[in-house]
Amino acid sequence: MISVIIPTFNEEGNILELNKKLLNNLKNLDYELIYIDDGSNDNTLKKIKSIALKDENIKYISFSRNFGKESAMYAGLKYAKGDYICIIDSDLQQNPKYIVSMYEYLKDNDEVDQIVMVMKNRKNENIIKRNLKKIFYKTINKLSDINLIDGASDFRMFRRNVLNAILSLNEKNRFSKGIFSWIGFNTQYMYYDVEKRFSGKTKFNNKEQISYAIKGITNHSIKPLYLSTIIGTVISSISLIYIIITIVKVLMFGKDTPGYASLLVVILFLGGIQLIFIGILGTYIGKNYIETKNRPIYIEKETKGFDNTIL
Ligand code: UDP
Ligand code: MG
Repeated sequence: MISVIIPTFNEEGNILELNKKLLNNLKNLDYELIYIDDGSNDNTLKKIKSIALKDENIKYISFSRNFGKESAMYAGLKYAKGDYICIIDSDLQQNPKYIVSMYEYLKDNDEVDQIVMVMKNRKNENIIKRNLKKIFYKTINKLSDINLIDGASDFRMFRRNVLNAILSLNEKNRFSKGIFSWIGFNTQYMYYDVEKRFSGKTKFNNKEQISYAIKGITNHSIKPLYLSTIIGTVISSISLIYIIITIVKVLMFGKDTPGYASLLVVILFLGGIQLIFIGILGTYIGKNYIETKNRPIYIEKETKGFDNTIL
C-alpha cells in the first residue's frame, strides 16, 4: 500500500482539485490519503471532511492550532500504514503523477530505499535569494554531518524501513530535510517541474525562510559554537604580538601619541563579535530548553479513518 501524506494549512481552494488529481493517478493502486489539517482558519478542514466522508481511503488528522509543516508531516508519518510512504504539498505545485513514477521506480529497484524529487525549474526567486540559498546549502553541508541537495524538496517516497528510522529520531524541534539525510539509506534523485500554485499564497515568506535556514544549521551542527573559540584564539594571538611590540616600543622610544580612533574601532569590533557569539550561544541554550520541556510535537483535535493503534 502507498500512504500519501498531505500537510495542509489554509488551502481551501486546493483540496478538491488536489484530491481529484490524486484519485485519478492512484486509481489502480492500493493507497491511503492522509490529510493533516495544520490548524487552518479557513474552510480547509470542511473540504477535507467532505471528501473523507465518501471514501474510506481518505483519512485525516486535524490539529488544535497551527503547529507548522514539520509537525504536520510528522503526524502523517506516525499514522501511515503503507509499505511506500509519500509526502506531497497540497497546493498542486508538485504534480501527483510523480507519485506513480516514484512508486514504480521503488518497486523495480529493490536496492533503492528513498526517492527525492528535486526541482528542475525554480520557484520565482531573484538572484539575491538564489545565491543566499546556495550559500545556505554550502554552509550546512560543510558544518554538519548531513548532505542537502539544492532544490531537493519534501516531495519524496520511501520504504517502511526509512519511515521507522525517521520516527526513531524523536527530537521535538524537527528539521525534516536534515533528518531525511542523517538517517542514511540508499537515495535516488528524480527531477520534476514545479508548477504554479493552484490557489492561495505561499506560507513561507522571506522571514520564515531565514529562520528555517538557521534552524537547519543549528539543528544539525554545533560547529558555530566552536567558532568563538577559534576566532577568540586568533584575536588573542594577534593582540599578544601587538602588546609585546607596544611594550618594547615604549621601553625603547618612550610614550607614543595615544591612538583614539584605532582604540575605538577595536573596542566596537570586539564588542560586536562578543554579542554575535552570545547570540549563537543563546540559540543553542534556547533549543536545549525547549527540547527538555518535552512538549508534544502537535496536538490533535480530531481524526478520522485510523484505528487506535499508532506507532
Ligand atoms: N503547510 C503546513 N503548515 C504550515 C505551512 C505550510 O501544513 O504551517 C503546508 C502547506 O499547506 C502546503 C505545504 O505545507 O501544502 C507547502 O507550503 P507552501 O506551498 O506554502 O510552501 P512553498 O511551496 O511556497 O515553499
Ligand atoms: Mg507550495
